[in-house]
Amino acid sequence: MAQPFISTHPSVEDCWRGIILFGRNVASYKFALGQALLDLRPAPGQLVTLQDLATPYAAHICAHLRTADKQGTFAKSSFLEACRRANAGELAPSQLADQTVQLGFNNVIDAFHVIGQSEIPQRFFVDERKSGSGIRVTEAFSTLLTGGQGGNLPRETDARWRLVETAWELGVSPALLAVSHDPATESLFVVDSTKRRKPITGARDALSGYQKGQCFYCFDTFSLINTEPPDVDHFFPHTLKEVWTGTMVDGIWNLVLACRRCNRGTSGKFARVPSIKLLERLSTRNEFLISSHHPLRETLIAQTGSSENERRSFLNARHIWAISTLIHEWEPSEAAVPLF
Ligand SMILES: [Zn+2]
Repeated sequence: MAQPFISTHPSVEDCWRGIILFGRNVASYKFALGQALLDLRPAPGQLVTLQDLATPYAAHICAHLRTADKQGTFAKSSFLEACRRANAGELAPSQLADQTVQLGFNNVIDAFHVIGQSEIPQRFFVDERKSGSGIRVTEAFSTLLTGGQGGNLPRETDARWRLVETAWELGVSPALLAVSHDPATESLFVVDSTKRRKPITGARDALSGYQKGQCFYCFDTFSLINTEPPDVDHFFPHTLKEVWTGTMVDGIWNLVLACRRCNRGTSGKFARVPSIKLLERLSTRNEFLISSHHPLRETLIAQTGSSENERRSFLNARHIWAISTLIHEWEPSEAAVPLF
């Protein structure tokens, strides 16, 4: 069995990413609530009223509606209709805020901490809608904001949102969903039914959370927002493209984020093949992508196999093949304790 993303003693970041990256979504409200809280940066113990939440929450939904009109798997929603009218200039900001308080938070506050059938081990807020007309933020949320990953979370949340809404918009059978990577722009895209390319999001923002915001090889923390973001690295080196016809070297299954030292520093990886230990880690990371549902799950299955055993054999075969071509194995000289 693959290693779970949320371990026995998960960090607050693991719990947050569990909610944002792994939940099965019927609507995008969880992403909007997450983004609104990250915008507001409330203090521990602070009561955030629905009025406080309404403006940033609706603003995120309105912004996403402008690029993807489908924000859920249901046919109609009065709240989404209000956001569309606000986008069209038919509803004033104060009217939208009122509508959001009335209609916008049904289900999302209750469901926020639930992944699958159970609740995650750490709560970021407590529901006080009955007694205080809002939610009370916990210590765990402050730890999340002030920790080393705080800057990455809005980017990761938005990327996950873009992937999910793009899958809904395409409206194709899940088996046909295929997210591709454009190496020139380091971004992800899909091809729609008219054969047009639809951009989704940057590869870094989409992949960061699944490797816990750390370099894939040495587990050094990286930041998506500073001037030296991590490199988008091909686990099996890009040079194999010339000999690996049919195995998509640019496929998401083969892309990881690496610090510059690991990728191209003095003892960096360059065109060497990562060791078996690192191959095992790629397998774990790919299983994280599989368990994230729409649409990376379908993409990874199409690229590497429909069962965990098939996917393992796929990776093992590529490793043997890569070593026979490139000869040299590589592992980082210094590395922190692995987080997965
Ligand atoms: Zn590194």
